[in-house]
Amino acid sequence: MDELRKRRMARNEARFRDVNRSVVAGIDKFVSNDPKAVYTLLCECSLETCAVMLQVRYDEYRAVRNVPERFFVQAGHEVPEIEVVVQRTDRFSVIEKIGVGAKVARERDEEGTHG
Ligand SMILES: [Zn+2]
Repeated sequence: MDELRKRRMARNEARFRDVNRSVVAGIDKFVSNDPKAVYTLLCECSLETCAVMLQVRYDEYRAVRNVPERFFVQAGHEVPEIEVVVQRTDRFSVIEKIGVGAKVARERDEEGTHG
């Protein structure tokens, strides 16, 4: 897989992360950071057409969001060339970007960009 494609896939994941951040911020406004909250989030995989929804608990969400290279994906949506699985649950997998994808994920996290 070439670098350009890896970068594009990483950007796609960062875009889903931005969407999910908005969703969580919206929910937290109403339930004011309820530790029992369960968020329904978009799968953050690199597939542009993916529309799978994942159930993520409050503590799980914050633990992953604290690490810019980590994303929530549906089991089976991992791409071994650009990421490794660091956690598996019966609801989702947590992946960590490697190589050029990790760099893109960090840059995008710092920018906090949308779109
Ligand atoms: Zn997916």
